[in-house]
Amino acid sequence: MPQLELDSICKTYGQPGTPTALTVLNGISLRVEAGASLAVVGPSGCGKSTLLNIIGALDRPTDGSTILDGEDLATLSDDALTNIRNRKIGFVFQQHYLLPPCTVLENVLIPTLAENRTRAERKTDTDRAEALLERVGLADRRHHRPSQLSGGEAQRAAVVRALINQPSLLLADEPTGSLDGTTASALGDLLIELHTADKLTLIIVTHSRELADQMNTVYQLRNGQLQS
Ligand code: ADP
Repeated sequence: MPQLELDSICKTYGQPGTPTALTVLNGISLRVEAGASLAVVGPSGCGKSTLLNIIGALDRPTDGSTILDGEDLATLSDDALTNIRNRKIGFVFQQHYLLPPCTVLENVLIPTLAENRTRAERKTDTDRAEALLERVGLADRRHHRPSQLSGGEAQRAAVVRALINQPSLLLADEPTGSLDGTTASALGDLLIELHTADKLTLIIVTHSRELADQMNTVYQLRNGQLQS
């Protein structure tokens, strides 16, 4: 069984059939095995973020189904989707979205707050956050605020926040889009290393051909369909 299966996904913004309706995804089918890495590339506005948001249960398709670990997301309530997102899926966006008043350590622990954790579990979460921060080279920045970080450091903290609940699927939407060349390459290398070492499934939407070419499979999104 694949980890993720998209079957004939369509997404139309606006009322279908009206002149203002915009069909962005037009019958996308895809199977993703656990531990795979893939990139979706294509020009701005072609629907890459829309597709990623549907995969990550942040948005629902107009038609078609998304099956994650054998579960059809269309059948789930919003609360159940929130729960799946929190436990199974990590997100990294172009902007880091770290909360300015919180330290790096506090920021990366935010996804754990949704769950009722015991004191012992909170300690485990903190230990895990510290270990991950160490792994991405931010151990000595953990008590800094986001404004005291470089762009690359902030994005690495966002990666740790995405991984804190040990997801099996990491989704990244233009993760290097706000970084300069060298920093972008380093972040790409970090994502690949985490994917390889932790057998994490990695789906990246990107403009960067360099980053896309490091994935096992690269798809072009064109006219609402995926082409390999
Ligand atoms: P990409 O990520 O490839 O840049 P997006 O998925 O963000 O593309 O957007 C695809 C198209 O859908 C764009 O034309 C965009 O304007 C439109 N779009 C995205 N979100 C909405 C929305 N909530 N309502 C209406 N149109 C939208």
